[in-house]
Amino acid sequence: SKTNGRNQLTFFEHSMHAKAMERLKMIGELREALPRNEISLYFQPIVDLYTGKITKAEALVRWCHPREGIIFPGNFISLAEETGIIHELGDWVFRNALACVKRWKQEFGIDIQVSINKSPKQFLKKGHTEEWAELLRNSGVAGNNIVVEITESVLISNTAVVSENLRQLHQLGMEISIDDFGTGYSSMGYLKRLDANFLKIDQSFVKNMMTLPTDAVIVETIILMGHKLGLKIIAEGVETEQQRKWLESNHCDYLQGYLFSAALEVDDFERLLKADA
Ligand code: C2E
Ligand code: CA
Ligand code: CA
Ligand code: CA
Repeated sequence: SKTNGRNQLTFFEHSMHAKAMERLKMIGELREALPRNEISLYFQPIVDLYTGKITKAEALVRWCHPREGIIFPGNFISLAEETGIIHELGDWVFRNALACVKRWKQEFGIDIQVSINKSPKQFLKKGHTEEWAELLRNSGVAGNNIVVEITESVLISNTAVVSENLRQLHQLGMEISIDDFGTGYSSMGYLKRLDANFLKIDQSFVKNMMTLPTDAVIVETIILMGHKLGLKIIAEGVETEQQRKWLESNHCDYLQGYLFSAALEVDDFERLLKADA
């Protein structure tokens, strides 16, 4: 009936309103999250396939929300990007990664490469690389202790600006890794121009490669092509010994996944590092 329709409409309007309010509240809380020390950096080991040693780690953010508990980046990174909070967050991640690398070297004599995820938005901020150059200089950490992970989507946004940024990162000694390779709008042309150091095979391919012949062919081909282009290959989402063996016989270089460890909070990661050394 007519009344029903009206009720539905108001209900719909109400839920839209509730959603908008919810979003606004989350934006406000996200803005406060850094000053309130609710953001923390977790580390997931990346293992050298041939020595079995931890030689790298990926830094992954977590939001320890006072009411909701741990919120994973999949649930707040896009909001941070839309609101510009990503700049502050991204700088915090970089500073924090530098501080950790430095401490591990000084306190335990352990020298590892830490990779950080960088959002396409961060590249487009004017003067950004100069700020990072300054942070790196002040930290006393060598540039090649840091790997910047970018996704293929960064490449479509603004190639000229992005290429220039990546060139500057290289000049600082930092390395570049192409994340989630094979899932975006990959173009072989980008790969050629990018001058990256690592390719990370997306975990969806690793997950299915033991059961789907096509995915096995894709992984095998990414490894062969990457090697011919002078890149080192990191397989993500490695969960089983069977996958590890397959990747070993196909000459992959580095492995990351639950088979070794999930991302750990810094104390736990340090214990693992020391035990591995
Ligand atoms: P990503 O860069 O592809 O990171 C890998 C994700 O896979 C992580 O999820 C990691 O915990 C998870 N993972 C690792 N090993 C396994 C495994 O064996 N099996 C399965 N099923 N999953 C595994 P996480 O930490 O939830 O991060 C999600 C995404 O959020 C990341 O995907 C990255 O794109 C983004 N992200 C994380 N930290 C940052 C950051 O500091 N800045 C930006 N811009 N993005 C970030
Ligand atoms: Ca990544
Ligand atoms: Ca990835
Ligand atoms: Ca991903």
